Amino acid sequence: MRSAIAMFLVCLSTPSLGQTALPPGYWTESQSAEILAKTEVIRLAPSLDALDEAERGALQDLLSAGEVMQRLYERSKHPEAAASLEKLKSLHEKLGQPAVTRNLLDLYRLNQGPIAITLDNRREAFLPVAPQTPGKNVYPADATREQVDRFLTDHPAQRGEILAERSVVRRATRANIEADIATLERFPLIRGLHPGRIENLRFLAKRASPEAFYAVPYAIAYPQEMTRLFASLMRAADKVEPADAEFARYLRNRARDLVSNDYESGDASWVTGRFARLNAQIGAYETYDDALFGVKAFHSMSILLRDEAATSELRKALGGIQSIEDALPYEPRRRVRDDMPVGVYDVIADFAQARGTNTATILPNDALFTRRYGRTILLRANIMKNPALFAADERIWRAATADAHANDLTSEGNVLRTLWHEIGHYLGPDRDRQGRTLDVALANHADAMEEMKSDLVSLFALHRMKHPSLRAIQASGIKRTLQNVKPRSDQPYQTMQLVQFNWFLDKGLLRADPVTARLTIDYGRYPDTIDSLLKEVLRLQYAGDEAAVGAFFAKWTRWTPELHEKLAERIRSAQGARFRIVKYAALGE
Ligand SMILES: [Zn+2]
Repeated sequence: MRSAIAMFLVCLSTPSLGQTALPPGYWTESQSAEILAKTEVIRLAPSLDALDEAERGALQDLLSAGEVMQRLYERSKHPEAAASLEKLKSLHEKLGQPAVTRNLLDLYRLNQGPIAITLDNRREAFLPVAPQTPGKNVYPADATREQVDRFLTDHPAQRGEILAERSVVRRATRANIEADIATLERFPLIRGLHPGRIENLRFLAKRASPEAFYAVPYAIAYPQEMTRLFASLMRAADKVEPADAEFARYLRNRARDLVSNDYESGDASWVTGRFARLNAQIGAYETYDDALFGVKAFHSMSILLRDEAATSELRKALGGIQSIEDALPYEPRRRVRDDMPVGVYDVIADFAQARGTNTATILPNDALFTRRYGRTILLRANIMKNPALFAADERIWRAATADAHANDLTSEGNVLRTLWHEIGHYLGPDRDRQGRTLDVALANHADAMEEMKSDLVSLFALHRMKHPSLRAIQASGIKRTLQNVKPRSDQPYQTMQLVQFNWFLDKGLLRADPVTARLTIDYGRYPDTIDSLLKEVLRLQYAGDEAAVGAFFAKWTRWTPELHEKLAERIRSAQGARFRIVKYAALGE
């Protein structure tokens, strides 16, 4: 496997013989080669032999829906995405497909748009386009946070719509409003599902002002894409109906959700549905691309193939879930459903925001829908078990720990720890002492605390089960905490991993060599170390004291040059690729 990766690395960064000159604004070949030399290609190709004819037919429509989602996502991240890609493609052909433009096409694929992440973690345009704005293309390019905040203070009634998860914010100019009115006139399906909207826009047009803002639902902002998605999902539903009637119902509900801009029916039938072999995550859920307010969800799509045997084995193991909850070191208890909608899948293809090497998903995030219907857990086995990704984990592990531990890490340990991490989100307190949700009580620290709780519940549960693969699970738990660079405080995952690492050192589970910083593990101390930190995390969550949690993070995130930085250097030089392009056999790649 390693030689295969090396081959890809060479292909991606082969220099051409003569330098081809491009117009200003395009990166040079050496600029792109620097990043591509740190990029590897992963290809996912699960066998589709288990699918019957009906499912295969539906899959084709789902794949074409995915392509629509992909372009939609790129457009919502950058206004010039589609135009700059078209120009680059025609330049590539006109110049006879030289390395310089091939590299730029690879960069576009890697970054899903014309803005690259550089080796020193900056975001930079590599095509002649405007720089990236924090609000991406779902807020006006020239709008600042202060302007929008001021408008919301003066117009509190607009708050809900402007900060909605699935709406695009615009300046209230006559041209913008008239374009939205024209959309509703042209698309009767969307007009009918948004009654009163056209009248509201006509009223707003009379008071148009570039200082003011308004928002339109994604269905109105992206009418062409949404009606195409509606048609593709409806077609897929008809085809898959004979093989999997429940999946067909979910696809129809989601198709309507996309044009009505209300996800409740699709989320309900997704989370509570019992599907056969296919599953799909479809729609806008995660908000981390919105750097202006952190509220806008961006589009994504994953098409998944269920691993029947692994899923039923997993569901059996979940029979004892209540006993894990009851054993957690905290007072208030809750009833946990033991028919959790969890499945093990191979990724057939990912699109848009879901494209990458994410190992597991738990959705939806909406608090009301979660309370009503629960959340579905999707474990992505062919990513968790990918040999190239595991090879990188193993290189890091061996660089960071003493030789005695060289063979402790296995991909199975990673899979089990990840699975129980997702289940961990279901256990422990979901509200604080005062009955507030933890997001409200712990504000900016809520995510880091919740993720740390899930990491620790995972290790706690697997220790209690005396799992046969415990050593590999324990090693995975330590691997998880290793950092290749000092975390920023706005990075919840890395921050809580550093807290665990420092706690492990403090309790003697880890000991660092004073010269090399390599780690020795005292596995005998593992259970007590996990119990003590889990107890503290559950206590802090239930207390709901934001200041106390802040003090806890301040105390446990120290970073020293002689230990942390030295270890980070070892990891950086061992890790290999920084970036990954994922390709999919189902897309003919
Ligand atoms: Zn998590």
